[in-house]
Amino acid sequence: MCDCLSACVRRLLPEKPNHGDDKPNHGDGNSKVDAGGKRPSVSPPAPPPPGRPDRPSENAIYTGIWPFEARHRDELSFQVGDLLEVMCRNGDWWTARKIEKNGRILGTGIVPHNYLARAESLQMQPWFFGTMSRFEAQNILMEPPNDEASFLVRKSEKESIGYVLSVKSNNAVRHFRIPHKDESFYVEQTQQFSSLGDLVNYYCKHSLNDIVSLGSPCHKKKPNVEDINHLLDDWVLPKSEFTIENQLGNGCFSQVFRGRWKNHINVAIKVLKNDSVDNTEFHREVEILKRLHHRHLISLFAICTESSPYYIITELMEKGSLLQFLRGKEGQNQDAASLIDMATQVADGMSYLEEQKSIHRDLAARNVLVGEDYICKVADFGLARLVKEPFYISEEKKIPYKWSAPEAISHGKFSIKSDVWSFGVLLYEIMTYGSVPYPGFNNREVYNKVKSGYRMEAPSKCPSFIHSIMLKCWQEQPENRPTFKDLRDMLERSSYELESPPGGSREQ
Ligand code: ADP
Repeated sequence: MCDCLSACVRRLLPEKPNHGDDKPNHGDGNSKVDAGGKRPSVSPPAPPPPGRPDRPSENAIYTGIWPFEARHRDELSFQVGDLLEVMCRNGDWWTARKIEKNGRILGTGIVPHNYLARAESLQMQPWFFGTMSRFEAQNILMEPPNDEASFLVRKSEKESIGYVLSVKSNNAVRHFRIPHKDESFYVEQTQQFSSLGDLVNYYCKHSLNDIVSLGSPCHKKKPNVEDINHLLDDWVLPKSEFTIENQLGNGCFSQVFRGRWKNHINVAIKVLKNDSVDNTEFHREVEILKRLHHRHLISLFAICTESSPYYIITELMEKGSLLQFLRGKEGQNQDAASLIDMATQVADGMSYLEEQKSIHRDLAARNVLVGEDYICKVADFGLARLVKEPFYISEEKKIPYKWSAPEAISHGKFSIKSDVWSFGVLLYEIMTYGSVPYPGFNNREVYNKVKSGYRMEAPSKCPSFIHSIMLKCWQEQPENRPTFKDLRDMLERSSYELESPPGGSREQ
């Protein structure tokens, strides 16, 4: 490596890892995350429908809506229709007693919250899908066996929108907002209903725009319960508890396999290629990362460090990286609104990291994963410094120059604002269905051009407001770039989400 390049690499990837708050430029303030118990709670369940109490009282009675088979002695099996008395709620996993109608207790244990519903609640309706993004709804409705006029009602992830009716029509999916005002629900102002059920029944018999009437409710799939955090007393586990199955991917720093924990539960096993990771540092960093839980961040379950190579155990994401997804057939079918929706999910996950004073350092479409239910989750956060730096230093060609903020390349100044710069590039990748940014330029040319003020133009068919968001992320001065919360709000305000009802104005 020539001297000037090695100096640059050293600046990009400082040799001494930094955990202290006294060096804010490196932004590793994640040590400020509150210490918690050994069983951190996962993201909370969707809020209940209007008219119901915010948090059901303790010992509320629920009904099983999916069969659940306990995978561990702490969990409780039940069937559809079984009555469960919920005694304690901890994130997505609740403690419940299975009871007979006469009150006799049949067993106690931990159960997945999304396999239960209050007897009279919306969750019991075959067409109600709870909190779901436009992108998820679109993809689920397009899957077999759903056909013309299949529909679902969902609660938008965007707070300002509320309930949405999504309907498959002419090989596409259309989305209608259902405003909820003064105890009534409607799509068309002229037709108001006292419940979502009445609204659905009406449009099963009457037309809505050019949709003759609603057909069958969208096919529901049993939700995955792959989370094991509530079963783990420790996050350092022996390799013998894991079985490695087929390979899912081969990254620069690891090989990733589908695997099982205790022969039963699906997980992703990341086998690190780098043997020189400092054990103590690695444990300290993972302990912090274990406490971060968000719907749009990959859950880290455990690590295996008794021998080389180390394993990192995370939740399994069936559809692989966002980059592969965008370049594949499913990705090519996404419209602008769905692309913006994916970007919003990433901004949401990153705004949680921002709130927790943590940083990513390697945000790019290759480090976002897509789940079976089409949820996008940010992966590989936090560990970039420990796992990737030594590799970047020895193989300078691999440095992600095209994603890195100028101050990160020139002075090694990593911060949440350098992540915002990378998010702008990720937005470009999303809007171009996975193209390589700065086409035609090599790494060194990109750095020089960016330093002299060059910024990528709007990709073809990219809405101008999305390009203006990219330009905000690429402000020269880090403090002039938006926060991730600003970015999430800007993307949420996008007017690309919904159909206009007959005679009505386009929402949002
Ligand atoms: P590296 O950080 O070593 O470059 P990656 O994290 O990018 O490795 O993983 C390489 C590939 O493995 C990804 O592109 C993706 O296809 C697959 N992969 C990684 N993590 C998971 C996961 N949790 N679930 C499913 N596939 C994964």
